Amino acid sequence: MGEFIEVKIDLSECTDMSDVDKWVQVCPVNIFKVEDNQPAVIEENEDECTLCMLCVEAFPHDAVTIHKLYENGMI
Ligand code: SF4
Repeated sequence: MGEFIEVKIDLSECTDMSDVDKWVQVCPVNIFKVEDNQPAVIEENEDECTLCMLCVEAFPHDAVTIHKLYENGMI
């Protein structure tokens, strides 16, 4: 988990992994990777998140949530 940002992936929303490479590539600061054919978060990069929300749009519905730890809230 980052110090300021936590990115969570709900794998239960990712039922069809055929586009997983496209999902992880949308992030401009490399917060995602593919591991065992599933999306995963690269924790050491989480604080680089620019809150661009491209991942929220690219991943299946509600699969990704971005949490601002410094405001204790979810975007
Ligand atoms: S909001 Fe943007 S920068 Fe942050 S994890 Fe998603 S794609 Fe990457």
